[in-house]
Amino acid sequence: MKDFKPANEIQDLQYFGEFGGVNPSISDSSTYTFLSAKTMFDTFEGNTDGCYLYSRHSTPSNLYLGEALAAMEGTETANVAGSGMGAITPTILQICGAGDHIVSSRTIYGGTYAFLKNFTPRMGIETSFVDITKLDIVEAEITKNTKMIYCESVSNPLLEVADIKALSALAKKHNLQLVVDNTFSPLSISPAKLGADVVIHSLTKFINGSSDTMGGVICGTSDFVNSTKSVIDGASMLLGASMDSLRSSSILKNMRTLHIRMKQHSKNAAFLAEKFESIGLKTVYPGLESHPSHTVFKSMMNEEYGFGGILTIDAGSLEKANALMELMQEKNLGYLAVSLGFYKTLFSAPGTSTSSEIPADEQKEMGLTDGLIRFSIGLDNDIERTYQMMKNCMIEVGVLHT
Ligand SMILES: *Cc1c(COP(=O)(O)O)cnc(C)c1O
Repeated sequence: MKDFKPANEIQDLQYFGEFGGVNPSISDSSTYTFLSAKTMFDTFEGNTDGCYLYSRHSTPSNLYLGEALAAMEGTETANVAGSGMGAITPTILQICGAGDHIVSSRTIYGGTYAFLKNFTPRMGIETSFVDITKLDIVEAEITKNTKMIYCESVSNPLLEVADIKALSALAKKHNLQLVVDNTFSPLSISPAKLGADVVIHSLTKFINGSSDTMGGVICGTSDFVNSTKSVIDGASMLLGASMDSLRSSSILKNMRTLHIRMKQHSKNAAFLAEKFESIGLKTVYPGLESHPSHTVFKSMMNEEYGFGGILTIDAGSLEKANALMELMQEKNLGYLAVSLGFYKTLFSAPGTSTSSEIPADEQKEMGLTDGLIRFSIGLDNDIERTYQMMKNCMIEVGVLHT
C-alpha cells in the first residue's frame, strides 16, 4: 500500500485540553462518577459511548493514544497496554484457547517465544515454530486446530522480513488470524494495510523513543479490540496489563516526533550498515541488497521512513563482541543495554540477553551466532564521526584488522 501516509494520519488528529490547552488534559482518576445509576449499568453492559467506568477498562488519555496508534496503523481502533507483552499475551489468549494451535515465526522476541513455548502449553495451546520466510513450510504446519499465524514484520534479532501480503493470503485461505508485531518498523511498514488482522507494538521502543516507560498496543477491528476489553471475558480487561494515563499522555506527545526520529534512525543505520559491509564485516540490515529479504521489505515499505534503525554485525566470538561493546560504551558511542529506539545507540549480544530464552541448539539452527551484536542506531547528528570512532574500536579489540 504505497500511498498510505501514516504520519499524516497521526498529524490530522486534533485534540484540545479541558481549558483549551494544546495538549489533551490528563485523566488523573482511577474511577468515574455517573449522574444516574442506569448509565452505570449500561456502561457495564458496554452500551454507552463516551462514558468511563474504571481505568483498567479505559481512560480518556488512553483512548487518545489508542486513536493516534490506530490512525498510524490504519485500523478501526486500538487499545493500549502497560507493556508490549501486556498487548501480546491478551491478544494470543483472546484468539486461542485449549485445543487450539498457532503457527509462529521461530525468530521472535524472546518473551513472546517463552510465552508460546513454555506458558501457553499449560493452557492447552500448542505452537509450531517455523521459518516464516518459507511460505510452503508455514502452510504445511497448519492443522484443523490452527487459529493464528504469528510473526514480527522485521524479526528480532535476525531481521528476517515477513511477507505480510503472502501470509495474509494464507491466513484468509485457512480462515486464520494473522497477528503481526510491528515494533521494529513503525511507519516504515503498515501491516494492516498489507492484510494483517491484528497489529501489535511494544511502545517501549521506537514509538515512545525516550526509554523512560513501558507500553504496548493492540490495533485491529473494533470487534476484536472491544472483545479484549470486555468486562465479561476480555483478556486485556481481565489480565489487567493496563496503561496509566500519565504515561499514555507522555507517549502521545512523543509520537508527534516519531516520523522525524524514524527517518534519522533509518538514515544513520543505513549509513553504518553500508560502511560496515564495505569493510568486510558480516552485516545484516534489510536496507542492504545482500539481505535475503531486501526485495520483500522494499515491496511493503512506506519509502520515506527507510529500512529502520536496527542492524546486526558478527564480531566473530562472544569475547570479541563483549570487548567491543564495552569499549564502545567507554567511548560514549552508545550504551550496552537491551531495548531499542533510544536517541542514543544501544547494543547487546542477543544470544546471551534478549534471546537467551531460546535454547542454545535452537539459536544455532536459526543462525543466531555467539558473536552477534544487535545495534539500535541512535539519532547521532554526525554519523560519519560515529562510524570512524566505531571502526577504531573494532580495530582495537581485533574485530577488524588493518
Ligand atoms: C520489546 C519487545 C517486545 C516486548 O515489549 P515490552 O514493552 O518489553 O513488554 C515485544 N516484541 C518486540 C519485537 C520487542 O522488541
